[in-house]
This record gives sequence, structure tokens and C-alpha cells, in this order.
Amino acid sequence: MRERWARDVLHCPYCHGYEVRDRRLGVLGGTAGSVRYAQIVRQWSDDLVYFTAPGTLTAVDRTGLAACGIGVVEGAIDQLVIDDDRLRGVQLHDGCVVACDALFVPPRFMPNNRLLVGLGCDVDGDGWVTADTTGRTSVPGVWAAGNVIDPRAQVITAAGAGSAAAIALNTDLVDDDVRTAVHDADHHQLP
Ligand SMILES: Cc1cc2nc3c(=O)[nH]c(=O)nc-3n(C[C@H](O)[C@H](O)[C@H](O)COP(=O)(O)OP(=O)(O)OC[C@H]3O[C@@H](n4cnc5c(N)ncnc54)[C@H](O)[C@@H]3O)c2cc1C
Repeated sequence: MRERWARDVLHCPYCHGYEVRDRRLGVLGGTAGSVRYAQIVRQWSDDLVYFTAPGTLTAVDRTGLAACGIGVVEGAIDQLVIDDDRLRGVQLHDGCVVACDALFVPPRFMPNNRLLVGLGCDVDGDGWVTADTTGRTSVPGVWAAGNVIDPRAQVITAAGAGSAAAIALNTDLVDDDVRTAVHDADHHQLP
């Protein structure tokens, strides 16, 4: 899986769906929200298989998958079948290989925020650094933008948040300059 990451093991249907449209696709299911995730991937191909361990699907899940024409394979996966540097299939524990050109894996996002946490920024219950709409954190002088505080950000939103943070940061520095200038002016006027 690691070796195929971002090539034919994919995490985001919005980032990668178009690249693999109309191919034989799989979703590695079994985690919370992965049925809905499969229904999103389904928009890119009529040939989609949802892989999951036995006993993980509810009746509602099954109905929702079947209604969207998503095949279901219940069983333990042994390995990915790679040939000529391409994903060819998903091999189950019983030896059966399900043909597959790309496997989507619902991601669990983890922020790379050691720097911010080390500086003392407040975090929420899930360990994500909290910030206001300009990216201002709980530590004066520290702003953050993009995926480090927002797992939903993509390139355009992360860049937009970076711009908003830069403007807020600059405003803060101007405020500081003005405070210093006023202080200096008052100081020089003293007899
Ligand atoms: C495989 C893949 C495909 C994607 N495809 C798309 C796509 O098609 N369209 C789209 O919009 N989005 C896509 N995304 C998401 C997009 O890449 C991210 O949302 C975006 O890059 C977030 O930007 P960012 O600046 O917040 O973080 P990043 O781009 O991750 O940049 C953070 C930078 O900070 C550096 N850094 C971290 N800690 C430190 C430190 N302590 N000191 C110095 N530097 C540090 C990191 O090395 C990194 O360079 C994809 C993501 C992945 C993983």
C-alpha cells in the first residue's frame, strides 16, 4: 500500500477521481463513513467494488451500496497484485483475485503540528490546533493556515487561508509598529 500511495492507492476522490474515471475501482471499506465514501467514488466509475471484513455492514449499508450498483466483497485481503509497476488486483485470503486498477482508501487525517503544539497552541479534543477565521492561534504572534489546522483544506483553500493569515499577521505587525511609534513620540515629548 505504501509503495503504491498516490499512484494507484488513492485517498481522495476529489483529487484523483478524474485520473481513474471509468476504470475498475475498489474501496477499502470497514471504517466509519466508508460506505458514503464509496458512494462518492462511485461517481467516477460503473465498476466499483467495496472490500470489507465480514460482519461490518449493516442492512442500511448493504441497501445503499446495492442501490448504487456497488459490488461488495467480504473477506480478508492478503495483498495487492502488482504487475509491470501497476495495480492489477486485490488478492483475498482465499486466493481469489478481484481485478482492480485503483484502490481508494478512506484517509484518517493526522496534523503535522508538532511545531505549533510545541509553541503552546491550544488544541481541540481531537488534537487539532484551534484558530480563528484568520488563522490566529491561542499563542500571540502565531498564525496557522491550511491542512495543519484544517483537514478539509485543499490547495485552493489552504492557499486562501494562507493569504488571509498573512494579511492578519501584517495588520498585527502594523498595530505593533503604531503602538511603538506612539509610545516613542510620547516619550520624546516629556520635559
Ligand atoms: C496524494 C495527494 C494528492 C492531492 N491532490 C490534490 C489535488 O488534486 N487538488 C487539491 O486541491 N489538493 C490535493 N491534495 C491536497 C493538497 O495537497 C493539500 O490540501 C495542500 O497541499 C495543503 O497545503 P498546506 O500548505 O496546508 O500543507 P502542505 O502542502 O502539506 O505544506 C506544509 C509544508 O510545511 C512543511 N513543514 C511541516 N512542518 C514543518 C516544520 N516544522 N518546519 C518547516 N517546514 C515544515 C512541510 O514539509 C510542507 O512542505 C492532495 C494531497 C495528497 C496527499
